[in-house]
Amino acid sequence: MGTGIKYENGKLIVPNDPIIPCIPGDGIGPDIWNACKPVLDKAVEKAYGGKRKIEWLTVGAGEDEWKRSGEFVPQATMDAITKYRVGIKGPLSTPVGKGFRSVNVMLRRLFDLYACVRPVSHIPGVPSPVKDPDAVNMIIFRENTEDLYAGIEWDSNTPEANRLIEVIKELSGKEVRPGSSIGIKPISEFGTKRLVRMAIQYAIDHKLPSVTLVHKGNIMKFTEGGFRKWGYEVAKEEFGDVTIPESELTDGQAPEGKIVIKDRITDAMFQQILLRPREYSVLAMPNLNGDYMSDALAAQVGGLGMAPGSNIGDGYAIFEATHGTAPKYAGLDKTNPGSIILSGAMMLDYLGWTEAADLVRKGVQGAVASKTVTYDLARQMPDATKVACSAFGKAICDHM
Ligand code: NAP
Repeated sequence: MGTGIKYENGKLIVPNDPIIPCIPGDGIGPDIWNACKPVLDKAVEKAYGGKRKIEWLTVGAGEDEWKRSGEFVPQATMDAITKYRVGIKGPLSTPVGKGFRSVNVMLRRLFDLYACVRPVSHIPGVPSPVKDPDAVNMIIFRENTEDLYAGIEWDSNTPEANRLIEVIKELSGKEVRPGSSIGIKPISEFGTKRLVRMAIQYAIDHKLPSVTLVHKGNIMKFTEGGFRKWGYEVAKEEFGDVTIPESELTDGQAPEGKIVIKDRITDAMFQQILLRPREYSVLAMPNLNGDYMSDALAAQVGGLGMAPGSNIGDGYAIFEATHGTAPKYAGLDKTNPGSIILSGAMMLDYLGWTEAADLVRKGVQGAVASKTVTYDLARQMPDATKVACSAFGKAICDHM
């Protein structure tokens, strides 16, 4: 039963009974997914009184799937995501030395999920290492397909690496130390513009004050510098009526209704998120900067255990737990399902079911405020009641 989500003229068309593929994943994946699913179902039921319901379609991927079927991402999983467009997944492990870089990377490539989107804000009561975690309210748009992550690299002393060293000398006159490994960092106008376009559109849709381009263009002039240049270009060319570059502000004030486009050098930005977090809202950045920044910001609000995430393309999106498979806890019903549950709330927002999404977040806030939490939070919260993964899910339902 259920109906497929459609994508027409750049917009999702979501029925009241969408079929949504879910990949429980490896390690603790099934534990956290079993806690998450009832939370999302309850929120939808409570928000829409039975008029809306998700029809879950469980599909496989990852190491356990490989042991079962000999495939990391079976055709049936690819077909389901292709057909139904929006999915949710637990963490996946990739067996070392089986010819795959990463199942996660493979899924991103297959569906051209070019933006890794991670909102970062503090849930009151979650222990944090900083003085004022509530000052952080940002959303990261990390480019997902380019940069040093494109996977173009050669080991030292291979014929390919040696050949490249010669070509570099020929083209630039620069000497690369013999015996070096070589990695290539492609950053394109196309890849940058579609990412920054998504970030600015998000700021417009959510009435947010600024979009900051985070780059290292002072050193890498054409790659990271290109990201900065193309980012400002797309803002001016496509959103000129609603954006203004920071350099054109008078007295630091933005005209009413305009989104300020800023840029910051990455290392300075790591200071800014600690020292002046209130000045930042939407962040857009190349892949490697985004990798570092996502974890650093997540740490400021209490760590990856509660950090939601998603990979989004044009008409396709996969929402995911941001932590790994924590294999030592697999099957113990122990770990924190907060990350996948809050990713589920993002998914509900993406479907336009914001009332249900808000209920999920309210439930999480209530459970944390009542100090009924899993071991990872309990060990840092005085007087907390430590509960199992599934019981934390139930506490979230009770606080909706
Ligand atoms: P990890 O699985 O994230 O676990 C590292 C530690 O983080 C755990 O031992 C635990 O700390 C804590 N942790 C993680 N998730 C938690 C949760 N839900 N609740 C409470 N604590 C949690 O990282 P890893 O050990 O480096 O990686 C293990 C495997 O996961 C690898 O195969 C890796 O490739 C894979 N991985 C997958 C993804 C993905 O699919 N998106 C992402 C990262 C890693 P304590 O021991 O202190 O309690």
